[in-house]
Amino acid sequence: MVAVIQSSALRKKKSLKKGIQFTLMVVGQSGTGRSTFINSLCGQEVVVPSSTIPDPKDDSLKKEMTMRTENVELEDAEGVKISLTIIDTPGFGDSIDNEMTFEKIIDYIRHQYDEILLEESRVRRNPRFKDGRVHALLYFIVPTGHGLREIDVTIMSKLSSLVNVIPVISKSDSLTREELELNKKLINEDMKHYGIPIYGFPFDLDYDDEETIDANTYLKTLIPFAVVGSNDTFEADDGSLIRARKYPWGLVDIEDPEQSDFIILRNALLISHLQDLKEYTHEVLYEKFRTEALSGKND
Ligand code: GDP
Ligand code: MG
Repeated sequence: MVAVIQSSALRKKKSLKKGIQFTLMVVGQSGTGRSTFINSLCGQEVVVPSSTIPDPKDDSLKKEMTMRTENVELEDAEGVKISLTIIDTPGFGDSIDNEMTFEKIIDYIRHQYDEILLEESRVRRNPRFKDGRVHALLYFIVPTGHGLREIDVTIMSKLSSLVNVIPVISKSDSLTREELELNKKLINEDMKHYGIPIYGFPFDLDYDDEETIDANTYLKTLIPFAVVGSNDTFEADDGSLIRARKYPWGLVDIEDPEQSDFIILRNALLISHLQDLKEYTHEVLYEKFRTEALSGKND
């Protein structure tokens, strides 16, 4: 599967023939639009979205959460490749007791760190070793117009010290502009109140260039990102094909930055901040895990 992503920023990395490996995990309750978002991000059907009308015979909602991994090769117009691994979490938050689900996700992330730690300590390295560390975790928040729910606070608090958590408000087209602004404000207040250390597009005033500082400052103001996803494409007025949601009154172009943060988030994940997210995972999050593991704190 090869999809084309448009980018000029990626051109710089043209020399990388093999493709940059990146792993993204998507967590959120059933129906929050995870599958649709994944397909929108990749520009192709990677996962089958659930139908609008639930099938009464389908008891998948009552089942335990599973972790489903998909590999997608993305390529920009210049031929720069990203080897994207996406881990979807169908069934998350659907049980009465979600503790087990939380543990499963945490165990998975920690296990990837353990594997690296083990590999690093080997005298003879395995040339085929695959680094499975999760570089970013998108956490899908239900668009309620309120702040965070208890489940959001619990899981985000648990995950934030292990992985780059990026909160998103999914299906943001179901909120009015005012509701969305209020929702973002309340979520930020809650994250601050509970001290949830999400990935905040960090920068260093002394070392980073002005462009990076400006870009990161702007991205910070958008958190949580409001996203709209769609599995369908339509012809726009100018004849171009756009991924959009069709309503009686017209189209919501998911890539229009006036209507959602989807395109900004996609560019940050796959282009401008891909390397940053990988570095932060290795230098800060994994390093913390490693130090704790070696001093016996993780036992
Ligand atoms: P998942 O269970 O989290 O994987 O959710 P799906 O991607 O299967 O989507 C569940 C339902 O929400 C489907 O009917 C989608 O068409 C719908 N949906 C997905 N994304 C959006 C969105 O951005 N806006 C709106 N309004 N509906 C969406
Ligand atoms: Mg799904």
